[in-house]
This record gives sequence, C-alpha cells and structure tokens, in this order.
Amino acid sequence: MGQNLAEKIISAHLLSGDMAPGSEIGLKIDQTLTQDATGTMAYLEFEAIGIPRVKTEKSVAYIDHNTLQSGFENADDHKYTQTVAKKIGVDFSRPGNGICHQVHLERYGVPGKTLIGSDSHTPTGGGIGMLAIGAGGLDVAVAMGGGAYYIPMPRVIKVELTGALRPCVSAKDIILAVLRELSVKGGVGAVIEYAGEGVATLSVPERATITNMGAELGATTSIFPSDEITRQFLAAQGREGDFTPLAPDADARYDRVLTVDLGALEPLAACPHSPDNVKPVGELGGIPVDQVCIGSCTNSSLYDMLKVARILKGKTVHPNVSLTISPGSKQVFTMLAENGALADMIAAGARVLECACGPCIGMGQSPKSGGVSLRTFNRNFEGRSGTADAQVYLVSPETAAWSALQGVISDPTEIGDLGGIEMPARFLVNDNLLVAPAAPEEAGAVEVVRGPNIKPYPKTEPLCDHLKKEVVLKVGDNITTDHIMPAGAKVLPYRSNVPKISEFCFTACDPEFPARCKEKQGGIIVGGQNYGQGSSREHAALAPLYLGVKAVIAQSFARIHKANLVNAGILPLEFADAADYEALSLGDELEIVGLIDALKEGGRLTVKNNTRGTQFAVRAELSERQVEMLLCGGLLDYTKKMSER
Ligand code: SF4
Repeated sequence: MGQNLAEKIISAHLLSGDMAPGSEIGLKIDQTLTQDATGTMAYLEFEAIGIPRVKTEKSVAYIDHNTLQSGFENADDHKYTQTVAKKIGVDFSRPGNGICHQVHLERYGVPGKTLIGSDSHTPTGGGIGMLAIGAGGLDVAVAMGGGAYYIPMPRVIKVELTGALRPCVSAKDIILAVLRELSVKGGVGAVIEYAGEGVATLSVPERATITNMGAELGATTSIFPSDEITRQFLAAQGREGDFTPLAPDADARYDRVLTVDLGALEPLAACPHSPDNVKPVGELGGIPVDQVCIGSCTNSSLYDMLKVARILKGKTVHPNVSLTISPGSKQVFTMLAENGALADMIAAGARVLECACGPCIGMGQSPKSGGVSLRTFNRNFEGRSGTADAQVYLVSPETAAWSALQGVISDPTEIGDLGGIEMPARFLVNDNLLVAPAAPEEAGAVEVVRGPNIKPYPKTEPLCDHLKKEVVLKVGDNITTDHIMPAGAKVLPYRSNVPKISEFCFTACDPEFPARCKEKQGGIIVGGQNYGQGSSREHAALAPLYLGVKAVIAQSFARIHKANLVNAGILPLEFADAADYEALSLGDELEIVGLIDALKEGGRLTVKNNTRGTQFAVRAELSERQVEMLLCGGLLDYTKKMSER
C-alpha cells in the first residue's frame, strides 16, 4: 500500500510507535520555533532541563507578539530571549523582522522536514511541505534538547482541490469553506492533506494561508505537496538548494476525502464568534463596518499586500472606517516600499503598523464597544480583540480592503478582475535582523540577562494516589485558551511571570476564580466539549498549575491543551457519560481513590461526589509515557529523571 504525504514524513522521522491510528508516536524534530509570548517560558524550561546547547538542525526565537513596550516587562523578556538564544544555539529574529510563521516560511522552511513551534499556527509551514505542528513550550524545550515529540498517530483527511479560483476569491475563502464543512472540531486527531489539480494554481503563501488556518479545524497539522511552485518560491528566496519534491503515492490511502471546487467558491466570512460560523459575504452585505485590520500570519504575504494595495490605489478609506495594515515581515514591508504599493496604501488612508502580530493578539487596535471589525486574521473568539462585545468577522484581504472603502461589508467580486499581480522572480533578501547564536566555544562567556519580570517555572508535585478536592470552576463547551488565559496588552507582559499572570486566569468567565483557588488551595475544573480549544499557550495550563488545580474533568479536550495539562502535571479526565456533567456544581467535593493503579491499568476511574452522595465514571485517555509524566509531576521533571538514567 502506498503512503500519503503525512505518512511519508512521519515514517522518515519515526522514533517510536507503529503508526497505528490513534496510538502514540514519537517523532524526531528537525526544527523548532518560538515566539516571545510563549518563548520565554520555553527557554526557562530548556534551561531547567539542564542541556547546554540545542540539538536540532535549526531553532529560531521570534519576537513578534508583544512589541508595544508599554512597560519594562516585555523589554525584560526580549533581552532574556536574545541572550539565552545566543548562549544555547538559537537564531534570534529581532522585533521588526516580522511574524514568526511568515518569516519562517521565507527564510527557514524546508519541504519534508519536521517543525514544532510554541504557537498553534506553526502548521503554516505545511504550505511549503513541512510537517509543522503547534506544541506547548515544554514540548519545544524537550525537542530542542534532542528529545522526541509525541502525538497520537493522526488520521489523514484528503482535501481534493479542483478547478481554479475566480477573480477576488482567494485562498482564505478556501479554508473558510473547509471550516464550514468540517467545523472547529472536524480536524481533531487528523492531518489535512491537500491534493488535486487546484494545488498547482496556488502559490506557497496562498497554501500557507490554508495550512495556517487549519489550526482552527483542531487539526494536528495541514500539508501541501512540494512541487514546481515550491521550488520557485525557494528560488525566489535564494534557497533553491532547500527544495525537495514531495508527493503522495498514487495508491495512497486516506481516512476521508473532501472535494472543493475552487471555481464554485464565493467570498466567505467567519461571523462572530467562531471561525466555523461561515457565511457568504454576499449574504452579509450592508452591515456597517467600524474597523478593518489586514495582516496576521494568515494574510500578510507580499501577494496579499499587493492585492490590497491594488484595491486601495487612488481611493480613500470610508470616513467611518479605521483601516490598519500590518505587513507580515520586513521582507514584505521593504518590497512594498520599493515598488510603490506602500505609498498607495498610505495615500488611501491606511494606518500602516509594524510587521508584528499587533491587533491579532489584542496588542492595540481594539475596536470600539460593540464595534464591527473585519479582519484577515484566523481567530474571532469573543474578547480576543481586546473588546469584549466587539463583532469580529474573518475575511480575505480582498473582502477587507473593498469593505474598508465601502464602509459596509461588501463582496469584492463587485470589483471584477483585479488584473494580474506580478510576483517578483527574486525577493529582496536581507537577513540583518536575524542574529546568529554564539559559536559553541564562545557560548560559555555569554551572560543571560534576567530582569525582574523573569520568574522560574512553577513548582510541580507528583500526582498523588488519593485526590479529594472541590470543584473550583464549572464552564461550558468550547472554552478557549483565551478564556483560560487571556492575551492582550494588560496580560501579555507577564508570560514569563506565572505568579503574576495567574491573577488573570479565567477572569473573563469568573473574576473570583484565582482568589477561590488560593482560598481552597486548588481544586478541580469541570468543562464541557472541546475544552482548551484555540492556541498552544501553555500558560493556560501553567496558571492553573500555579493556582493548585489538580485535575480537569471535561466532556472532551482540544489536543494541544490536553498535552499541555499533562506536561504541567494536571490530570485530564473525560466523562464516560457526558450527561454526568450536568449533575456537578461549583463547590462539590470530588474524591478519587486508587488513582495511580487505575491510571496504569487502562485509566477507568470512579469519582465520588461527596457533597451529593453520588458517583460517576471517568476515563483518562493517556499513554504509558503520559502516566509516567504525571507520576513525576509533569514533563519537566520526567525529562530530568529520564536524562539522569
Ligand atoms: Fe501572531 Fe495572530 Fe499569528 Fe498568533 S495568530 S502568530 S498572534 S499573527
């Protein structure tokens, strides 16, 4: 039987496991990336493991999330990251160089390689044929130290692209169509593999838009073949030597096949407040718009920006609209400046921001109360913009730019043909904001600078056999990592300071949660379906760890968050009968005895509700390795123990 693309890369990197779907596999990781909001903790964890230099082929630390510098905190973080990267052998991408995924695609991505990143949109690298997966910071730290990265062997869903896009319908509309079909849970446990004649009609950045937003499907990752288009992209980056052709075997098997006819697609929008709440833009026409934000790792390539500039050229942004544009990288920004497109944007009234995440992570440009914001980003969860009641729609660059001119949500196919956008055969390559690490023989002399915002990894405890704790929080379905650990300008500066950031944990759902946890000395969280969806941020596990949370009992978990809970030494349990969720209340005292044996013997457990005199069944879907980790107190202690053997 032939192999699909995912199986080919996995089998070439397999360190443990037999590739049976759902069973745990260990992968050799070639490259890692971090961004500043998760990276400081990842490097603190790497230091705590005690390995002096990274063992990966390439590891890169990006500064892109927190660039406001509104206090000393993130300046402390940046200095720490810069100095620790120099010491341990990691490239450092300075603030101003661009968004991690855009820069990584341009300067580091290599078809057929494995990449994990402490950012859930790491699958952007699938656009260039990498097996690129978002992971917790601790997983990245372990991989930097040469350890395997473990995931359940994914199912592989093939998305067959037929035909070609019509003018002003774009790659963003393709992934929105897939999200409409599969939903935010449809990719869980799966790799989404793109194939078909439509693939050749898409450039690498367009493919990367699609794989980037595959994260919103809950997918392990998404991937495109590496073909002549990939070769041309690498050649334009002066990296043709990194090209390898990659394609599935003709008789490859897939778990499911979905077909998308590109020619039949129309402009789409993900409506508030979920990326899968997708409707045709034509049906939304006439909704007044307050703000339009163009950029983010989803839509900030040169191609995206040139299309936007073409639409804006010679026009003026509607008086009721604030339009911001953030180019994805210094390379894109420079090329826009060189070819005059930047002048067209500025002349039209766009507010051009630096090449960073910016509004996407709530770092500035929050909409007005109840405001309508059209964004080319990938997430529109409630409150992510920094305004709790904002109405955020996710759209293509064409829809965003055209609507910014009209003042209402507008279908860009009204424009007709934009005309050919000529892409240069050679990009302007200038890596002067990428700082190489010290040579191994000089690393000892590098001083790692730790300002007062840099606090150590929180204290962990091995799992105990007898758990008796109160329910300190009960939440519903689709709780995101933004609910658990908000982002935004007030909170982001404390990502390297877990005691401080814990004061914000779950406060969007229940402002009393941190104080209650402290008073009760921790407890158990109860959740509904898809608990922990969204980003890879391990602070959504580290803050509960610091507050003393011992277990989360949910109807189901999002993949990365569940792994992060285990990494932090918090036990994730699933209701055997989802209906038992209803019978639990805040303050109920829950008790589990014989925990350790039950975990080792298949993970079937009984939870007594002492407050109500009832009991219910739960299961721990954990590998032997994960059980061992919990018995050590989490991945950090487990890794130290293994390296001492
Ligand atoms: Fe940055 Fe937004 Fe992309 Fe996250 S999703 S990496 S915050 S641009």
